[in-house]
Amino acid sequence: MSKSVLEYLVEMVQIDSESLDERAMADYLIKELQQLGGEVREDKANEKTGGNAGNVIAWFDGKEGIEPLMLNAHMDTVTPGNGVVPDIRGGIMYSAGGTVLGADDKSGIAMILAVIAQRKKEGNLQVPLEVVFTISEEIGLLGAKELDCSLLRSKRGYSLDGNKMGELVKASPSQINYKVTFQGKSVHAGVEPEKGLNAIVIAADYLRKLPDGRIDEVTTMNIGKIKGGKATNIVCDEVMIEGEIRSHKENKLQSLLELVQKEAESVKEKWKTGVKFEWHTSFKGLQFEETEDLIEISHEAFSSLGINQGLVINGGGSDANALAEHGIRLAVVGTGMQKIHTIEEFIDLEDLETGYQWLDNILSIWEERCGS
Ligand SMILES: [Zn+2]
Repeated sequence: MSKSVLEYLVEMVQIDSESLDERAMADYLIKELQQLGGEVREDKANEKTGGNAGNVIAWFDGKEGIEPLMLNAHMDTVTPGNGVVPDIRGGIMYSAGGTVLGADDKSGIAMILAVIAQRKKEGNLQVPLEVVFTISEEIGLLGAKELDCSLLRSKRGYSLDGNKMGELVKASPSQINYKVTFQGKSVHAGVEPEKGLNAIVIAADYLRKLPDGRIDEVTTMNIGKIKGGKATNIVCDEVMIEGEIRSHKENKLQSLLELVQKEAESVKEKWKTGVKFEWHTSFKGLQFEETEDLIEISHEAFSSLGINQGLVINGGGSDANALAEHGIRLAVVGTGMQKIHTIEEFIDLEDLETGYQWLDNILSIWEERCGS
C-alpha cells in the first residue's frame, strides 16, 4: 500500500527535526526511500555543519535516454519545531499549538515521496529521479552548501520550498554578509574617562552613516546584530556589528558593499583606532527567463490543473541558491505552506493535493520533453 501525500505529511510533521537535529527525520527518509526502491545515500555534510545527520540523496532509475530530474526539499524546521501535533480542521492542517507546523518544508517532501510511491505502484516511473533532501536549510543553507556533489547525477530540477501554490520564483537576490569590529580602549569610566576610547560611540558614529531597510525595489540592507560592552563603569573596548545586503542587481550589491567598507575606513581614520572589516558572499542570486525549460514545463503542469502559473520575485535565499554554486539549476515552486516560521503556520490540504498533481504532471511532461 502506497501512502498518500497527506499520510506522509501527517507522519513527518510529528518527527522532530529542528536544524542540526535532523537524525530522526533522516532515518525516516532513508527507510521510506529504500522501501520505494531508491538507491539511498547520506553524505557527511554534518561533519562540517555540526549537526547529527547528513543530506539524504536517493536515485531512482528510469527509462534510458531521459535526462534525470532533481527534486529537492529540506528536512529541517525552524524552532519551536519539536513535539508537533497536527490538527486538521476545515480542510486545513495547523499545529495544535505552541510549535510551527513544519509544512516548511515537509509538504515538499511529502509531495515528492507520494508521487514516487504512486508511480512505483503503477510501474510507471519513467523519468530517472534524483531526490535531494537537505539538512539545516533554515540556518543558512548549510546542508546545500556542504552537499557532496560527487554523489549527484542530475543537473536540473525543482525545489519544492516556495510558499504560495501556483507560484514559481523567477528571481531571487544575491546576499553579502559583513561584520565590523571597532576597537576602543577600556579605562574606569568615573576615574579617568579621558584616557579611554569608547567603542560604542565609534560604532554609533559608523551606524549613522549606513543606509538601512529597503534601499530600492530589489535591494535591502539590515544591521542584525550588535555586541559589546561589559559594565556601565567601564569605557567599552570593543563592539562588533553584523549586517547583510541583498539585491537582485549585482552592481548595486557591489556598490553598497564598497560603501559599508569605505565608511569603516573613514571611521578608522577619524578615531585613529582599529577597525576590522570582514565580509563574504552568503549566496548568489538566481534569474530565470520565461522561455527556459524549467519554467515552461511547470507552466504546462499547472495549466492542465486549470492554474495560471504566477512568476514571483523572492527576497530570500533557499537551497536553489546554494546549489547553483555547484552548477545545479533548480526552480523554486510553492507548496502552499503559509505563515511559515510562526506558530500559526498552516497548509490547505487542497494545495497539498494540487502540489502532488503538479509534480505528477511534471514527470509526464519531462518524459516527453527531456528524452532523446
Ligand atoms: Zn523552507
